Amino acid sequence: MARVYNFSAGPAVLPEEVLKEAAAEMMDYQGSGMSVMEMSHRSKVFDNIIKEAEQDLRDLLNIPDNYKVLFLQGGASQQFAATPMNLMKNGVADYIVTGQWAKKACQEAAKYGKANKIASSEDETFAYIPDCSDLPISEDADYVYICENNTIYGTKFHTLPNTKGKILVSDVSSCFLSEPMDITKYGVVYGGVQKNIGPAGVVISIIREDLITDDVLEGTPTMLKFKTQADNDSLYNTPPCYGIYICGKVFKWLKKMGGLEVMKQRNEEKAKILYDFLDQSTMFKGTVRKEDRSLMNVPFVTGDKDLDAKFVAEATAAGFVNLKGHRSVGGMRASIYNAMPKEGVEKLVEFMAAFEKANA
Ligand SMILES: *Cc1c(COP(=O)(O)O)cnc(C)c1O
Repeated sequence: MARVYNFSAGPAVLPEEVLKEAAAEMMDYQGSGMSVMEMSHRSKVFDNIIKEAEQDLRDLLNIPDNYKVLFLQGGASQQFAATPMNLMKNGVADYIVTGQWAKKACQEAAKYGKANKIASSEDETFAYIPDCSDLPISEDADYVYICENNTIYGTKFHTLPNTKGKILVSDVSSCFLSEPMDITKYGVVYGGVQKNIGPAGVVISIIREDLITDDVLEGTPTMLKFKTQADNDSLYNTPPCYGIYICGKVFKWLKKMGGLEVMKQRNEEKAKILYDFLDQSTMFKGTVRKEDRSLMNVPFVTGDKDLDAKFVAEATAAGFVNLKGHRSVGGMRASIYNAMPKEGVEKLVEFMAAFEKANA
């Protein structure tokens, strides 16, 4: 068995312990005589799995009782539509556009109401987070929307925007559970789990209870109505059972590691190794404004397309895979989610230093 160092932006690396446990339970989950893939979502065994997963997530994030936790499908992208459908009572929302995911969410919302772009960093290829301390928030805005960690560009909101009392909705797909967060600051927090938590196919949405109502846009599909999912504890129809089971295992792993404060420290240490290297390198450069850097996604370039390609090819051959940058930024991107060991980042930096010397 040869495991590589997988720097993919998503679907992405998962803890080896979790994969091994899942493998050991594949044929017979805890004496049930079947795999979790094969069991009824209405069974007692699965009921325990989803309830425990929810409780562990609540413990990790300190989720207050007046927030519902939903395990949904359709990817984070499905929530681009579900958000306006459920929340646009006045038909108005304000979007802060800091990358392609926020842009797509804004475009989707524009199908259902007035989606105002109140700030953007597109002028500099989304390499920074705009100042959001005093934005022109619309008086009748139903919510303010952000993508908290920009997977493609490698920026993160280190300070939440001043929404002037409006509900904050945040897509946290690529920073979910990478550090503690104060859920009470948000109306809705959601994320596709395939970046930092589990297998693609599950979206977790944490929604303040008063935002879960029957007052949704006309024509909202039953499945996309928060209330349908909340009233049925995510079991209105068959949920992504196996994915939820793996997410549950990752929550247990995170608890065992010491929780989100510890993960934050680890992630800061890991990211520092890579950023410190980039800051002193004469060949590799980070592409993002320093104060807005993400702990999870680190894009970098050499400035020479051929040299970038050579680096990616040689890195792949050496067991550092999925380092090619997103087509809109070019160069490279190392995604260093929770499950990437520190050793993986150290070895990558050693490899980069050797490459720099050999190609100077
Ligand atoms: C990957 C990603 C998405 C899209 O996720 P899907 O599950 O493929 O729909 C949305 N937002 C962010 C921040 C992402 O990283």
